[in-house]
Amino acid sequence: MVYRWINIIQSRLLPAVCLLCGAPGEAPGRDLCAGCRRDLPLNAHACPRCAEPLPASAPAGTVCGRCRRLPPPFAAAFAPYRYDWPLDRLIVELKFRRRLAVARVLGTLFAEALAVRLAAGAPRPQALVPVPLHPKRLAARGYNQAAELARPVARMLGLPLLDAGRRVRDTAAQSALAFRERRRNVAGAFVLAQGVPHAHIALIDDVLTTGHTAGECARALQAGGVERVEVWTLARTPAPGTPGRTA
Ligand SMILES: [Zn+2]
Ligand SMILES: [Zn+2]
Repeated sequence: MVYRWINIIQSRLLPAVCLLCGAPGEAPGRDLCAGCRRDLPLNAHACPRCAEPLPASAPAGTVCGRCRRLPPPFAAAFAPYRYDWPLDRLIVELKFRRRLAVARVLGTLFAEALAVRLAAGAPRPQALVPVPLHPKRLAARGYNQAAELARPVARMLGLPLLDAGRRVRDTAAQSALAFRERRRNVAGAFVLAQGVPHAHIALIDDVLTTGHTAGECARALQAGGVERVEVWTLARTPAPGTPGRTA
């Protein structure tokens, strides 16, 4: 509630200022200028199952080799941006600093991309579920960045937001582990805290990297009776050894 009021007061009283370069914002309440928005790295050509960038030569809608060999537990994944400069800078700030203004900008960009996707005929989920943090980490950070992004998305798309997941193990941060260790780290880390009376759910997170965290959440939702789980993240980090990976 306090968050919402601070947000409303900030957006009404303070002129919008670009969080990346300090120029005036593109629109009232949007703290990003048009030039910096155009610099954000789009992920327009991606695998529909895991959102990983596809080689330019692959036809649109191609399921990548990895998903064909080992389909992920979720039915589809969508990430409108690649985790690359300058978006990576904003996502770091979302996690560690300046949460309010950054969540408002990123949540709005995310919602706009999702609205385009739904208008183009993608199936519409019945509710959104943010990927949960373990209560210990939530207490330390004070907020869950996935929920901060999910809130404007839910509002703009008119979808209910369910805080349905619980992280039952305080796993090591995925970013601190080698790619091959990440799957074991999150196995069985999530349960449902409440019944989810919906057949189609979209999980919301900031970044999709190996997909193991989202995959474990999807398994928990499916065990609770959800038939179709999609993963919607603002950004995608290409897995190692793929053409789109730059780092
Ligand atoms: Zn700017
Ligand atoms: Zn894929």
